Amino acid sequence: MEANIFNITNLVRENIKSLKPYASARDEFKDFDNEMVFLDANENPFENGVNRYPDPQQTRVKNKLSDLKGVPINQILLGNGSDEVLDLIFRAFCEPKQDTIITLPPTYGMYKVLANINNIEDNEVLLTTNFEPNVDEILKVANANSKLLFLCSPNNPTGNSFSNESVEKLLKSFNGLVVIDEAYIDFSSQKSWLERLSEFPNLIITQTLSKAYGMAGIRLGICYASEEIIAVLNKIKPPYNVNELTQQRALKRILTKNKVRNEIEKILEQRDKLIAKLKLISFIEKVYPTDANFVLVKVDDATKRYGQLIEKGIVIRNRTTQPLCKNTLRLTVGTKSENIKLINALKEL
Ligand SMILES: *Cc1c(COP(=O)(O)O)cnc(C)c1O
Repeated sequence: MEANIFNITNLVRENIKSLKPYASARDEFKDFDNEMVFLDANENPFENGVNRYPDPQQTRVKNKLSDLKGVPINQILLGNGSDEVLDLIFRAFCEPKQDTIITLPPTYGMYKVLANINNIEDNEVLLTTNFEPNVDEILKVANANSKLLFLCSPNNPTGNSFSNESVEKLLKSFNGLVVIDEAYIDFSSQKSWLERLSEFPNLIITQTLSKAYGMAGIRLGICYASEEIIAVLNKIKPPYNVNELTQQRALKRILTKNKVRNEIEKILEQRDKLIAKLKLISFIEKVYPTDANFVLVKVDDATKRYGQLIEKGIVIRNRTTQPLCKNTLRLTVGTKSENIKLINALKEL
């Protein structure tokens, strides 16, 4: 597809095209900071920090992200975790029982769950044995109803980033939207696709504060895309989808950029030490290369080893039922003392 003939309105569901969005009180009057008397939203007027509805457009958080990432604010949408962002993408672009998506297992399970919830067929194209997208096969499977292609890079649970050549070829050749899930990008040695967002009108990038930013508990997912795509998603998002406490904590955390950087460096240092020690465990047959804060390993009997670790009070993820992942375990990199506990427990088995 030529970038210049790409027209987003051809991909939007008919009912969404004609939808008139709900206008909340705070949508109609936006001046938050001034000394106006607010009697428009039926709130309790006694101040306690959260008695007012939150900013539906999360302007302060977006401004900071915009500074940090160099993306204009009208190309950013925030959600209650990336999971909400992904669900909005389904609901905007996929007509139930008619449109389809393409996912590349083994990958993040949520894409398929959201497809099932939204009654959208999921066409699966397995990754190659070295966990890269099978580009030719993906393009063969794609048809006029294929609205979304999910690329998780770095990929969960395999840990690797996809090659730039494969991703670029898919961005240029797939006739729907390409969603690159960059949940682990801050751990990666690869650059974010954000730098090249303006080159690809069909590109949607999702990120999250749940992993490297250490804020899984506040639920904040981020979507970067063209102004046109963001406008469609804004039209259908629940008005107050990101609560006030989340906005406050996210803002504070984004402002302490150096602290986050520091934690990421420590995690990466621990990851490399952990990998070196995992390679010495007799029943670990393979430690897969990783670009994220977790490591996939192949063992003799994943279900047995998983159970033994639980007995020792250590919870990891058994991925043995995933395609191409027989007898694999996924280990999150913890603190130094947690990783030592893990290694000691593995040695004792
Ligand atoms: C953890 C994870 C997310 C994060 O989802 P949130 O809803 O933002 O917590 C998204 N994508 C992948 C691949 C993940 O592993």
